[in-house]
Amino acid sequence: MATAAASKKNGSHKSTLVATPSVKQARLLIDGKWVAAKSGKTFATFNPATEQKIADVAEADAADVDLAVKAARKSLESGPWATMDARDRGRLINKLADLVEANLDELAALETLDNGKPIRDSKAADLPLVVDCLRYYAGWADKIKGDTVPVRGNFFCYTRREPVGVVGQIIPWNFPLLMVAWKWGPALATGCTIVLKPAEQTPLSALRLGELALEAGIPKGVINLVPGYGPTAGAALVKHPGVDKIAFTGSTETGQLIMRDAAATLKRTTFELGGKSPNIVFADANLDAAIAGAEFGLFFNQGQCCCAGSRLFVEQKIHDEFVEKLVKRAKTRKLGNPFDPNTTQGPQVDQAQFDKILGYIDAGHKAGAKCLTGGKRFGKTGFYIEPTVFTEVTDDMPIAVDEIFGPVLSVLPFKSTDEVIRRANATNFGLAAAVWTRDIGKAHQIAHSVRAGTVWVNCYDVFDAAAPFGGFKQSGIGRELGEAALSNYTELKTVTVSLG
Ligand code: ADP
Repeated sequence: MATAAASKKNGSHKSTLVATPSVKQARLLIDGKWVAAKSGKTFATFNPATEQKIADVAEADAADVDLAVKAARKSLESGPWATMDARDRGRLINKLADLVEANLDELAALETLDNGKPIRDSKAADLPLVVDCLRYYAGWADKIKGDTVPVRGNFFCYTRREPVGVVGQIIPWNFPLLMVAWKWGPALATGCTIVLKPAEQTPLSALRLGELALEAGIPKGVINLVPGYGPTAGAALVKHPGVDKIAFTGSTETGQLIMRDAAATLKRTTFELGGKSPNIVFADANLDAAIAGAEFGLFFNQGQCCCAGSRLFVEQKIHDEFVEKLVKRAKTRKLGNPFDPNTTQGPQVDQAQFDKILGYIDAGHKAGAKCLTGGKRFGKTGFYIEPTVFTEVTDDMPIAVDEIFGPVLSVLPFKSTDEVIRRANATNFGLAAAVWTRDIGKAHQIAHSVRAGTVWVNCYDVFDAAAPFGGFKQSGIGRELGEAALSNYTELKTVTVSLG
């Protein structure tokens, strides 16, 4: 396992901070077997805190994806999974949840090693949410049902919900294991079979989960894993005629590409994409709670959340006081060794993200915004960026328009409710929003007027396996989590029987 044997230098982010990890699994999972890529190729995955290589991982491309899709098709149509009682499918998903719980420390360490997120978050947020999500969908397996339909004439008409088939799942690197759980939970509950491509930056935890899935007794071929790159492995999965549906989480640009590629075979597609979520603070809010929510809403996970509250609208009359306290709070964030339990902010996931974020900080300066704290690299090793707060931001600046996916907050003052609703909605995104106020009427007015898939009132980033999540506008199509996700993985069939 990834021995999270970090050095004891609290807050240090020197290259010595993580002992050499031993990675249990770095190959492809196809038809229940761990195999090398057909091409023999591998790719390196790196520790973003040290910039050192962790492991070489088998690199799938079209040939491997083809084998994985065939295996998934075979187990969809024949074998134990195809005929298994729904309740038994639920038991297997629960077994997997139990194994995740039993191996929680190891999986959390692997996640922190590959992604850089603080171990306290991997342990307290990512992993418990994975377990919860799997258990939630285990409970659905035997509750997916159709209707009887009162049609005209002497007929008996009913509907069935059948598995959509072989599903291709393509996920990002910001919550590697949690994204697997969001994808596998409803797919397994509905009886689909899976080919999943983890992000090339963070393949390790998904591969380990694949081992646990086999250990849980999920039959071979039901879950196949094809780590590799987007334009090769990812695109091959999207274009493969044997794949019935693609579920994608990632950037809006890649989502557009996938939608185009999926059109040729008219695949079912669901998308969870980018965001530029407004976090709206009224003067009558509990300010201490709102300040904590503004910090958490943006800086959690190094700002690498699709629902990050990156546009912080603050009512003019409290703007200066609020910003002063927020900046003070941002400065208390503890950057450093992600394996130190006191660390609250780790490195960004890789050089590309690091460069992109620094580019946006530069663009913020050039556009005339005022940087009150942060704005620079932290330390010399690892992709760390200081928590950064900009004021004097206008709605048209790149830092207020584009998804930065990093620890960069734009503060925008506003005067009236109508104004802030209009400005909050002046974006192509619509994933999430939050409002902080003690006025219940105003809270609901904002909740109903902001065009976003999730609105948090006096809280931020509150997730639950039962609560649907997804985007309006260019933030996505479809909803994950909750009962809503089940329809992503089922086809509705109508059966009409003559009683004459
Ligand atoms: P980011 O830019 O943050 O890495 P992406 O949206 O590019 O986000 O990546 C999310 C996932 O999509 C990753 O697993 C990546 O490999 C995959 N991906 C990237 N490009 C493509 C593509 N053309 N087709 C299919 N999958 C892709």
